[in-house]
Parts: sequence; structure tokens; C-alpha cells
Amino acid sequence: MSENKKKSRWGWPLGLTATGLAGAAVVMFRGCWHGKMSWPIRAQGYSYQVCMGCGIKRLFDEKAFQAYGPYRYDLNRLIAWAQAQREKAEPSVYPSEHRPAS
Ligand SMILES: [Zn+2]
Repeated sequence: MSENKKKSRWGWPLGLTATGLAGAAVVMFRGCWHGKMSWPIRAQGYSYQVCMGCGIKRLFDEKAFQAYGPYRYDLNRLIAWAQAQREKAEPSVYPSEHRPAS
């Protein structure tokens, strides 16, 4: 019986808040298709574009001249993502076997 009470006490307010937040996020994303991106901006060795509509950011490949990767509002997350991709592509970036053999 006491378990049932707990559920109704915590389940409702938390559930409603989560649904409300998720709903707001969905509306934000659905309301913007990121169709108008700014010109590439350089920062910390990376290029990225900013959506003129909602301010979301995406990495931009200057050589291929196209955007790539996920959309993120946080630039630091984008850069972390790009660094992870680089490490995957070039595992020898961090030379762990370059010890002097003396
Ligand atoms: Zn947008």
C-alpha cells in the first residue's frame, strides 16, 4: 500500500515536468529546419556554422565545403565530438610507442 502512495506522489509531478520539457524541445526542433546557416566561423582549429533561426551549431568541413556531424547548441560538445572522430580516424595521433629505446 505504501508503495502505491509513493508512486502517485512522485510519479505525477516528475512525469508532467519531463513531458513538458520534452514537448518544448520537440517544438523548438520542429519549428526550425536549420535551413539558414551562417558562414563558417573558425574557432579552436575547427570551423562551424550557426543556424540563423535557432542558434544551433554544426561543424563545417572547409575542404569538402559542407557541414558534417551532429547539431549541437554547445560548441564544446561539437569539438569534443570532432576530436573523437579524429582519434578514430588516426589512432596514432598520440604516440604511445615513441619511447626512446635506451
Ligand atoms: Zn535552426
